[in-house]
Amino acid sequence: MAERYWLETLGCPKNQVDSDKLAGRLVSEGLQAADRPEDADLVVVNTCAFIEAAREESIETILALAGARRPGARLVVTGCLAERAGDELADALPEVDQVAGFGVAVTLGAKPGPALPSFDLLNLPRPKSDVPWAYVKVAEGCDRTCGFCAIPSFRGPQRSRSEESILGEVDQLDVAEIVLVAQDLASYGRDVGRKGAIVPLVEAVAARVARTRLLYLYPSELDDRLVDTICATGVPYFDLSLQHASKPLLRRMRRWGDGPRFLARIDDIRRREPSAAFRSSFIVGYPGETEEDHDELLRFVEEAQLDWAGFFSYSREEGTHAAQLDGAVDPGLVAERLAELSEMQDRITAVRRSDLVGDIVEVLVDEPGVGRTHREAPEIDGIVAIPRDLPAGTFAKVTITGAAGPDLEAA
Ligand code: SF4
Repeated sequence: MAERYWLETLGCPKNQVDSDKLAGRLVSEGLQAADRPEDADLVVVNTCAFIEAAREESIETILALAGARRPGARLVVTGCLAERAGDELADALPEVDQVAGFGVAVTLGAKPGPALPSFDLLNLPRPKSDVPWAYVKVAEGCDRTCGFCAIPSFRGPQRSRSEESILGEVDQLDVAEIVLVAQDLASYGRDVGRKGAIVPLVEAVAARVARTRLLYLYPSELDDRLVDTICATGVPYFDLSLQHASKPLLRRMRRWGDGPRFLARIDDIRRREPSAAFRSSFIVGYPGETEEDHDELLRFVEEAQLDWAGFFSYSREEGTHAAQLDGAVDPGLVAERLAELSEMQDRITAVRRSDLVGDIVEVLVDEPGVGRTHREAPEIDGIVAIPRDLPAGTFAKVTITGAAGPDLEAA
């Protein structure tokens, strides 16, 4: 009987892609997926190290799986936490058999196979998706220097995949919706002297699949050409990585832009495509964030009327620019600011969702009873509850009959 693996994935969509590739590699080595971690001969935890809470969750998961695995099963830890703190992790967790960074040589038994550089991992084939959508990572690493972010220090500079390799993966996945991801997606190709290559890439993907969605767009890179290309795919969904609205604070973050510029861009996109949907994320309590900065962010959130927004408390990351900044914000105050912003956005999201009641929309059926229009990214935004007899993987026109917070109901 073939030996079996269990692969647990934490963190962001980019990590999910790495896990898919690892699974593809394990299957190609003759392993089979186990139904439960207790049945596996090899347990792999693909960790996240983005912020403190993610690191804690990763360690809790490793310990839980170390306890749950059957005697003799091998436990391997990979992903961002392994990359970032591999030696400390190996010392602190003796129950782990192998701590390995990206491109991990995950094999069974005592002798690990040859390690792959992380970029080669990106180009590996992956198993078929069991939902009608899939993430595709188009580049690894990031060339920016955002003050709060440690990712470039352990994921390295940007390395874009070739268009040929990406399109090959899109063809092989054979799904209805492709979600393109990268740390800095709009800069795809810049590292290989092909600035603006994201536009022909999106066009080529959109020619192959019904839906092409883009996540994580750095706002300065979102020019008219890219906006028009995104709208032309039929999925006018804009995930803008804004982080704040106050200009002085954004400069402390070593990021581009300010509230008025962001609002002008959003207005312009809405003029071009009134059904455009917007998502963004914001950091609350970055060192030096004043009451004025916070008020500016509140005003921005109210004015922007984004469909979706996430607010995250600042997490001090060793080795980053922000880790040396003064002006730490009191945690109690951060919690208050977070609550105020989240309440405001929940209200805005609920109203925007209610405004859709009565509309006829096209959904992609992810599974019986669950669909998504262009406004909902998988696993991140709300869903549309649809009749259960609509078959998974198909598109259907439905009428929105109700809204409950972030979710919609349709008949
Ligand atoms: S764009 Fe900024 S926040 Fe995003 S990965 Fe690069 S450095 Fe980090």
